[in-house]
Amino acid sequence: MRLQSLREEVLEANLELVRRGLVIDTFGNASGISREEGLVVIKPSGVAYDRMRPEDLVVTDIDGNIVEGTLRPSSDLPTHLALYRAFAIGGVAHTHSRSATAWAQAGRPIPCLGTTHADYFHGPVPVTACLQPAEIKTNYELNTGHAPFCSGRSPAQAAHIAWILEEVAQMAYASIVINSGVAPLADELRDKHFLRKHGPEAYYGQKKRS
Ligand SMILES: [Zn+2]
Repeated sequence: MRLQSLREEVLEANLELVRRGLVIDTFGNASGISREEGLVVIKPSGVAYDRMRPEDLVVTDIDGNIVEGTLRPSSDLPTHLALYRAFAIGGVAHTHSRSATAWAQAGRPIPCLGTTHADYFHGPVPVTACLQPAEIKTNYELNTGHAPFCSGRSPAQAAHIAWILEEVAQMAYASIVINSGVAPLADELRDKHFLRKHGPEAYYGQKKRS
């Protein structure tokens, strides 16, 4: 069996989404990519999480051709592949977590209202435009963006970001309920919090081991 360790990482990321309450039923999916081999490992479609084994995961190439696996891949595979083609990322996690999806359904980016948000996201979390009829008719699975897709350096990090996203989505929602006129975080504060944790000048947290 190919990509044993990546299969285990992807399975673990899928289970993490369930443990964090971000996924019910079979609503979500996580994947990972081996850039060296140009292969993606993704959750199979419609398999219960508590019965999923590493060998049930599906391996595809970057065009979505199945390389290994007897089950069908998640129907969201085209979106995962589009993200891997567009960005230098190692993992993708998709959920229908309640608050983040509510923002998406409302057609609103999640505003950056506080430093918790800015620690992870450099400004509002964007939302895709509503689908046009032609986009629904053709390549629907590629065009759709109905609920959060999160990425990271690894499948585990993508699942972690999905958890944080749900939390900041809930905070933003509650803040606006409490005060509908709440202002976005000041740019200086947003940059301070984001850039101290991310990017070349990051200094927050423990030193990286060499
Ligand atoms: Zn979905």
